[in-house]
Amino acid sequence: MVKKLTGLAALTLLLSACSTTSNTVGNTVDPVLTQSPRDLAMFTAENKQCYDRSTQPYSFVVDAHNHFRPFGGHAIPMHELDDYFRRLGVLFVNVYGIGQTLPVDSSCDYYLDCPDTLVIPSIKNDFRNASNYMEFPPDGLHLTLSMSFPNLAEPQWIKPQMQQLNQEYPDKFKWMGEVNLVKQALFKNGHKATPIEAIPQWADFMAKLREDKMPVAIHSDLGNDKEGENYKYLPLMDKVLELYPDNKIVWVHMGLSAELKNADPVKHIAVMKERLDRHPNLMLDISWRVIYDNYFIKPEVRALYVDFFNEYSTRILPGTDFVASRKKDFLVYAQEVEVTSRINLYLDDNAFRNIALGENYFRLMGLDQYRAPQICR
Ligand SMILES: [Zn+2]
Repeated sequence: MVKKLTGLAALTLLLSACSTTSNTVGNTVDPVLTQSPRDLAMFTAENKQCYDRSTQPYSFVVDAHNHFRPFGGHAIPMHELDDYFRRLGVLFVNVYGIGQTLPVDSSCDYYLDCPDTLVIPSIKNDFRNASNYMEFPPDGLHLTLSMSFPNLAEPQWIKPQMQQLNQEYPDKFKWMGEVNLVKQALFKNGHKATPIEAIPQWADFMAKLREDKMPVAIHSDLGNDKEGENYKYLPLMDKVLELYPDNKIVWVHMGLSAELKNADPVKHIAVMKERLDRHPNLMLDISWRVIYDNYFIKPEVRALYVDFFNEYSTRILPGTDFVASRKKDFLVYAQEVEVTSRINLYLDDNAFRNIALGENYFRLMGLDQYRAPQICR
């Protein structure tokens, strides 16, 4: 292990609070996360101050995966979310809508509670995020608006809708995602895996993304825990990578999910490395506590992923995959930040700087005014 665990007692206490469902509200936040506030000036190219891992937070400064809109029901207002970010020193955040919305007349807040209710992507959440962003300019934060509307099985509408958003909010949207290539959790709600034949028809919107230098974050489950199905859907992502090698593609959750809790980590890491080696524009998003709860929590498994992240440290993006339903509050977000940041404690200094302190994000986004601080020796 690289660093001693500051606030270990608090961490252990928190562990028990966090091992229940994500809706459970504990009553504590690890003080390490809030006691040493971070600000944007620490992440500018001019900053000379080093980052002391023994006293400063191990949590990431970038949440590259945050859904500001829930599946249904009310959202946490954006200005309140901004306050959560400032309190936790999470200063760079991707503003996702949601790729699956319940009908407006549905009484559901979460799609798994209402199987059989059709969930489909919609552009309305992107408009709402943009409108809220303009109304509440994020003081002391860098938010990146993202287009989350695309239905990848209906690619003919994507470029025109991108143009529509750009017309209403010129130069505001800098990212696309999270879009669903295949998400098994939604199968009961009418979602199907995108047919592989649809992928070549993405050419025009993928060209527009390259032109605008926008990354696209794709949810593409590798497979599931059934015998012989661990990598059932891998050909879909392979097709995307083969056809669009020049696009900046972010593979969210490394293809893992609640349906794939028992992948052999050695094999999984080998599959990821092979794609990263072959596709220099591919990055992996390691957000979502499901990955922590099923993989990183096991010391022997975690060690394998830590070696992998240290070796491929320029290719990894952190995040929570928080969904801002009004049923949640600051403590829930703080816990998700804490749990999804725990892996950072084990990274070497170089990987910690690239992943947790934002260097990868700044490079991917071409944010030349920002730079991750050097680590204090
Ligand atoms: Zn997500």
